Amino acid sequence: MSNESLKLVILGEGRVGKTSLLLRYFKNKFNENEQSTINASYYEKTAKYNGKSFEIKFWDTAGQEQYNALNAIYFQNAIGALLVYDVNLPETFEKVKDWVHTLREIVGKNIIFVIAGNKLDLLDKSLQDKNSSQVNEYVAKENCKIFYTSCKTGYNVKEVFDTLIDIVLKYACNNNIVINKRGGKKLEIKEQVKPVAKKGCC
Ligand code: GDP
Ligand code: MG
Repeated sequence: MSNESLKLVILGEGRVGKTSLLLRYFKNKFNENEQSTINASYYEKTAKYNGKSFEIKFWDTAGQEQYNALNAIYFQNAIGALLVYDVNLPETFEKVKDWVHTLREIVGKNIIFVIAGNKLDLLDKSLQDKNSSQVNEYVAKENCKIFYTSCKTGYNVKEVFDTLIDIVLKYACNNNIVINKRGGKKLEIKEQVKPVAKKGCC
């Protein structure tokens, strides 16, 4: 039985496909008319690293990000995050940068993150070049990984989650992260829990 638990979160503008990515990865399901508010608050799986079992707990929002009302409890004790944007809406990539900033402020500068550029199946090729330079620049500067995904076809969904989980497990093992049974690593929280106001407006 695994009893060491690692918390991961998913973040991004409303409607970019966060819940759909989780549903595709954890349940292999896709619903074209997915509603943002009706799903589980987290998904779990067991992953092995160096012969040790870890319980991965992936938290989903209940759509509060659309109203700038995501509470700091959502971020607290997370070790990693999947940042999602819609490749068809370049402005949603700006929110990825904002969330990275927020994560670093609340969780700490060592937060691990991977980016998913989602809804690849809908991509208008003429947009591709226009957006890719700012994305490539950011990814190079942050030295982070990015995957272009489609929840509809399933393309790269397993890859993006498996990569994030792999990086997180390596980090947790190599840094002797203290993990507790109830869902989260121990780390220094710079600030006490307070509501997080997202920059800008959706
Ligand atoms: P969230 O608010 O970020 O959790 O977004 P949802 O997962 O609720 O998705 C919003 C809408 O986009 C839903 O209608 C989904 O079916 C749709 N959607 C999500 N991912 C994809 C994708 O990769 N391709 C297409 N075509 N639609 C998607
Ligand atoms: Mg959602």
